[in-house]
Amino acid sequence: MNSTSKNVQSVEISGIRKFYNKVIQYPGAISLTLGQPDFNVPNKIKLAMVKAIEENKTTYTSTAGIIELREEISKYLRKLGINYTKDEICITMGGSEALMDVFAALINRGDKILIPNPAYPAYESCVKILGGNILNYDLKENFSIDFENLEKILEDEKPKAMVLSYPSNPTGAVLSREDNEKLLKLIKKNNLIVISDEIYASLCFEKEYYSPAQYDEIKDRIILVSGFSKMFSMTGLRIGYVCADKIFMNQIIKVHQYNSSCAPSISQWGACEGLKSCMKDVDYMCSKFMERRDYIYSKLKSLGFELNLPKGAFYVFPSIEKFNMKSDEFCERLLKEAGVAIVPGSAFGTKGEGHVRISYAYSMDELKSSMGKIESWIDSLK
Ligand code: PMP
Repeated sequence: MNSTSKNVQSVEISGIRKFYNKVIQYPGAISLTLGQPDFNVPNKIKLAMVKAIEENKTTYTSTAGIIELREEISKYLRKLGINYTKDEICITMGGSEALMDVFAALINRGDKILIPNPAYPAYESCVKILGGNILNYDLKENFSIDFENLEKILEDEKPKAMVLSYPSNPTGAVLSREDNEKLLKLIKKNNLIVISDEIYASLCFEKEYYSPAQYDEIKDRIILVSGFSKMFSMTGLRIGYVCADKIFMNQIIKVHQYNSSCAPSISQWGACEGLKSCMKDVDYMCSKFMERRDYIYSKLKSLGFELNLPKGAFYVFPSIEKFNMKSDEFCERLLKEAGVAIVPGSAFGTKGEGHVRISYAYSMDELKSSMGKIESWIDSLK
């Protein structure tokens, strides 16, 4: 008899990881599966971490994280038009821990949590582990929110909280000004709590950045989750953060304490230096991602894929419907027959079916050679 948690049993290992792990069985295969930038951590961050080690800053920090980093985050967010004080910020072990802390602080058994479909798989898994009930809202063809569907769900189901995820993994869509304004009205009208995962905020290819956290009048209902894995290409250093009003933060910080005591001290000093002196590195990485985005978008178009131009993050989510294969079969065959690993859209929810996710957080050489292989493979299908 399996006496482990039924909630945990109901959750699967992420489909992204599953495919990533398969690649090693195919020597020479190229993987475009992970959301991990291929740049090195900016040098100043490395030096700040070495200095922190030499100065023996290797003890626990305060639970919420070092004040210096929280102050820098507060300043950085202000430039995006988002106002949280250092006391409304808690540093976590990546955005992953931040998400789990937030859901754990919010969810009573059976609470309805509204998440987009398709979406980053952690939202659904965290909510299930914690005994919440998932509701999905639809996205339109361009991956913006289908407000008609959303309003109906809000009215019929009265969910406790809603997850927003822009710039989006897996779709590459960003939040528009019009949709941000619509959200403001809906959040006010429905007294909704919003968990806004903005971990790709620094990778927005549009001039302006929009988030409901920019509206001070509803800021007490917005819980912002973010982090530095993508921004400073420091996925293994595990620094994320949560911003929230005191009412939420008082609970979130307890979960964070029992999860982790504090985020890794050395990495906190690294992220702090990053915010102080590495914004040029961030701009450079962003410009490189844009070049890759442009390449991959036009290449996929020329191969006959239907897709939206990604406006942020580093993923493209083309439709594969014309190939008459489920996304799992498409990706299995592409890996076996062409030696390229990408992620089936089904890994991101039922509405991800009919699509595949390609990460372009890989070098131009890898992108070019994998696109060549995809081209030959598609020709072989004809
Ligand atoms: N949110 C989204 C949308 C992500 O894509 C990721 C990582 N892939 C995370 C959160 C968590 O990232 P980390 O734990 O490395 O900060």
